[in-house]
Formats: sequence, structure tokens, C-alpha cells
Amino acid sequence: MLRVKVIDACRKIDSNGMYQHYMANEYVPTEKIVAYQEQRKNDLLKFHLANNPGYVDFLRRNGINDFENIRWEQLPIITKADLKGKEMIVKSNAHHLHHTGGSTGKPLVYALSRDCVSSLWAAIWRAFNVLDVKPCEALVMVAGTSLFNKESISRKVYNWLNQFHVVSAFDLNDEMLKKTYEMMVRKNIRVVYGYTSSVLCLLKYFDVNNIRFKLKGIFTTSEMMIPAVRELARKCCECDVIDIYGANDGGILAFECKEHCGYHVSWERSFVEIINNRIILTDLFNTSFPFIRYQVEDMTSADSLIVEPCKCGRTMFRLPDVSGRIFDMIKDIDGNMVNSFFFIKSTSDDKSFTQIQVIEKNGVLNVNFISNQHNEEYYSKKYYEIFKRRINRDIKIVVNAPIYTKKNGKSPIYVNLDEHI
Ligand SMILES: [Zn+2]
Repeated sequence: MLRVKVIDACRKIDSNGMYQHYMANEYVPTEKIVAYQEQRKNDLLKFHLANNPGYVDFLRRNGINDFENIRWEQLPIITKADLKGKEMIVKSNAHHLHHTGGSTGKPLVYALSRDCVSSLWAAIWRAFNVLDVKPCEALVMVAGTSLFNKESISRKVYNWLNQFHVVSAFDLNDEMLKKTYEMMVRKNIRVVYGYTSSVLCLLKYFDVNNIRFKLKGIFTTSEMMIPAVRELARKCCECDVIDIYGANDGGILAFECKEHCGYHVSWERSFVEIINNRIILTDLFNTSFPFIRYQVEDMTSADSLIVEPCKCGRTMFRLPDVSGRIFDMIKDIDGNMVNSFFFIKSTSDDKSFTQIQVIEKNGVLNVNFISNQHNEEYYSKKYYEIFKRRINRDIKIVVNAPIYTKKNGKSPIYVNLDEHI
């Protein structure tokens, strides 16, 4: 805990206190969660109405004039576009300014109040605790720059304090993977955290080279879950994989438990609504920026949260799944929009391939299977008709084509190369 306290002192936050608070809240009665969220929603709204002229303007522009009797459901959904520009920041409560990645278009600059910053790692540590991993326990982080920033010196000190051993998602060649493995052995590192596709690279390296190295746990994030990651983790590392869904804009952190039946939401901070399969977030801690009914650009295949307690005993509400980004929708020639999550769902029982990616190029959907078991003919026979029935487009099935990685280091399930031409 000493490391946590040093980090807290440097950053003027209280992630240690927040972690203790979070750990005490995993099994509270559901009614308590509901009552707490109702109260916090009202307080948050009142606060922004009184202190945030930018947000009040936004409400007026959306036809709201009676601020006394406004009901939650009447509040307009707020989008990234609505929030661009700095006029919605409540400066007195802004502990930290944040920029979204912004690989396309203008990045969003938003503010986080102190409790939000305290909560960033506290919420991740609560997820780590599912596999008994403690705050600041040594881990290998395989990720792109949105999980770490390799440029800054303060970040290096921070990584050292946290015992993060960072491996860039951009350099995952055999030599780097070998070095990573050797470091894990030398320093006895038993935890891996990173982008799902990057973790897959590491596990494949273990598998191909017959490496067996027991881990406490693997935590994946930022991408769609790849079933092969679980298989390989069991085979090569005798451990479970916990997937974590997080979005800093909107303030959500949700994690799987050992039951793997949905993502437990950190309800203290995050009030989640699902409207037309879109995830709508309210950051209950944020008094410096109005993430109030904010449409984060992620979708779920579900209609609502699961509020019944989980088999694991946790009462924390569950998001059944995260089925990708809003941009992951594929349009077919009949005008139907199909979520690219469909490709994962319709192949999820098939253990013969480790990864699937759909690349749209020159109007053709190239469905790429990474497999050392079967060829194109096999997968075409098995899946062409299934895909075609749902998506009326030119579809080509390929095997072992290179996996496309975006500038931010992520490898999404669906990439439209035509859009960038
Ligand atoms: Zn659970």
C-alpha cells in the first residue's frame, strides 16, 4: 500500500481510500444501490444547473426551460459533438483535463473532478481483485498509448511505482515477445494486463514455443473479447482471463467476474442506461464536466442491465456485453445495418481459429480467419452462407492474411479501409 500512498500524494488524489470504499461495496443490497444512484443523479443535476452555464445553455437549446420540475428521462442525450469546446467545464472543480484519443476528427477535451481521478485505478484494482491481484502488484502491460504514455518522464516514475512493465502493442515481434517472457521469469511477474489482441499475441508466442508459465491472472481491455485468449490462457498459463470494459469519457469501469456472465459496473460512479442498444452513461462523481446521459460510442446487444445478483454473490449491476463501437456497424446493399459483433457471435463455438477480422476494401468484406488448422475452402463452406444470409454484400473469406492494427495499437474486429481513401 506504500506505493499507492506515494502515488496518491504525488497526484493529490485518494485512490487508496476509494479502493477501500469500492471493496466494501461489492455485496450491498440492491435497494441501497438504487437509492444511492437516485440521490446522486439528483444532486449532480442540481449542481450543474446551478454552476454550469454551458450545460444550462445546452438544455435550453434542446427546448428545456422549466428547470424546477425536470424529470431525468426528459434530459437530452448528450454526445461528444455537443461537448466539444471548453464552455462546459466547471473550472473550480476540474482536477485534471483529459483528451480523448481522437484518431478521427477533433479530440474531445474534458475535465475530471478529484473523485473521478481517484477512481480511475481504484476501479481497475477492484477488477484485479477478482483474481486476487493486489494494487501495485507487478504486472506486464501490453498496450498502445491510451493505457500508457511512453514519452513522459513522470509517467516512467509512475510506471515504476506501480510496477508496470510496459510492452508496446506496436512492437510485438518474436524477439520482443521472447524478451517479455524472459523478463517475466526473471522478475517473477505473474499478471498480464493489456489490449485483447496484444495479449493474444503473447499467448500465441507461448503456445507456439511450448512455453508453460503459470500466472495469477490475465486482464484484457479496450477491444472485443477474443475466445481464443481464454483457451490459450488456460493451456499455457493455467489461469483465467477477466475482461474489463472502461471508458474515461463517461466514467465507466465494468469487469467480469469468474462466472463470465456480464460486466459488473462500478455503480458508485457510473449510472448506466441502455437506449436502442446504445450505452448511455452518467458520471455521478463528475462535478467539473456534464457527462449526464452521455452517449459513449459503444454498443451492447442487450436491452437493459442485469440487476439480479450474480452467481458470484456480487450485487453490482451487470452490463450483459459490449458489442463494439457505434462505427462498427456494417451497411449492406439492402440498407440493413449489421453490428460487426455478429461475426464473433456466429463463430464463437469454433475453436479451430484464434482470431477473426473483417476488412472492408474496394466494397468487398474480407473475412480473415487466423488458423493453423483449416484453409479458405473449409471456412468458406462453413460460414459463407451464414454470413451472406445476414449481410447482403460481396463477401470473401481468407485465411491468415495480416491482422490490421490501427494507429492507436488496437486491432478492431471491423475495419473499413474504403472510408479513408
Ligand atoms: Zn459476478
